[in-house]
Amino acid sequence: MILFKNIFVDFDILIDMILSSQNIQNLLLEWFSDNGRHWIPWKLKKDGSIPQPGESLSPYEIWIAEVMLQQTQLMVVIPYWEKWMKAFPTLTSLKDADLENVLMLWQGLGYYSRANRIYQSSKILIEFIGKNTDQDPHSWPNKIDQWMSLPGIGRSTAGSIVSSAFDLPTPILDGNVKRIFSRLLATDRKSIRYEKKLWELSSLLISTTSPRNFNQALMDLGANICTPNKPSCSSCPLQKFCVAYADYDPNNFPQKEMTKIKPIQEIGIGLVFNENGELLIDQRLESASMGGMWEFPGGKKTPSESIENTIERELKEELGIAIKVGEKLLSFEHSYTHKKLSFTVHICEWISGEPKPLASQKFLWVSPDQLFEFPFPAANKKIISELHKHLCIENKKL
Ligand code: SF4
Repeated sequence: MILFKNIFVDFDILIDMILSSQNIQNLLLEWFSDNGRHWIPWKLKKDGSIPQPGESLSPYEIWIAEVMLQQTQLMVVIPYWEKWMKAFPTLTSLKDADLENVLMLWQGLGYYSRANRIYQSSKILIEFIGKNTDQDPHSWPNKIDQWMSLPGIGRSTAGSIVSSAFDLPTPILDGNVKRIFSRLLATDRKSIRYEKKLWELSSLLISTTSPRNFNQALMDLGANICTPNKPSCSSCPLQKFCVAYADYDPNNFPQKEMTKIKPIQEIGIGLVFNENGELLIDQRLESASMGGMWEFPGGKKTPSESIENTIERELKEELGIAIKVGEKLLSFEHSYTHKKLSFTVHICEWISGEPKPLASQKFLWVSPDQLFEFPFPAANKKIISELHKHLCIENKKL
């Protein structure tokens, strides 16, 4: 049965029609029971069993997973989450950890500000929960507003944490759910009203008897059936409610963002060795993006200078030292969310001046073998790997 074929309707009428069908929740929950991803570790009890309706799960484990999932796919997140839970099994252990150890565990997941915000939030949460009760789910916040007051937690992440941990009916609107609703309503209008209507649909639709499973069912449907490209509409439990399926091509909803060309900035990096064969690294300011991570010194090239001049100038400004720029080790591009950086890396020799952390929080001279002991952003990892290859070749020559 197709409900909406060839009729013009607006948001409100469509939402009413969807909601007036009593069985949409049941259809989704039945589909979830047979097809859902019932193996996600933070959605299970400690003994590996599925929680009963109304039973709480660990808010700590769910919070960490939800933040990891903000920019990263589930299958990538799982091994990171497992490692994290071994290293920091409780909120107290996280709050007492060094930020550097937290960043080490985050290496490879990207968007390091998430790790910084989790760390900051652990201090706020422990104040709220109390030191000896952090393993009791009932001492944790269970309201959307409380979670949204933490750094980096938006409404959808808060809704997902509360519904997953406490089985409470808090709606979500992540990318998967937005796509499903846009297709159900066949709308790609981009406006605050549109966003508000999707939130309204999520709030009105959520099951009050099984909210945890309902939200998970939406996420699983978006991940496995209502996929961004070529959705499997023939296997979809919501097919008969879906206007995009009935009247249009679901692939066209929601409208794809135009790919913006990212500006490219050239960056010169110096691998500065001293007479003992040690290498200079410095630690980014806590307040900077990727705060607390280590990096090789360098910076942005101005239009009028050569890359060698950039490296000399940046090392003077950043660490107060004079260097001799030597051979080029490598150049490569690295993409971030809104920009692309083009790195050129040179081996350099320290000439004079005691390093001072003028634009960083700390500096260290380390042996190249020790570099693996520090958290570095992904772009610097490429440099480390190339440097080790280079040093191997140099050693063989000797
Ligand atoms: S019918 Fe197709 S487009 Fe519509 S919700 Fe289901 S999978 Fe998505």
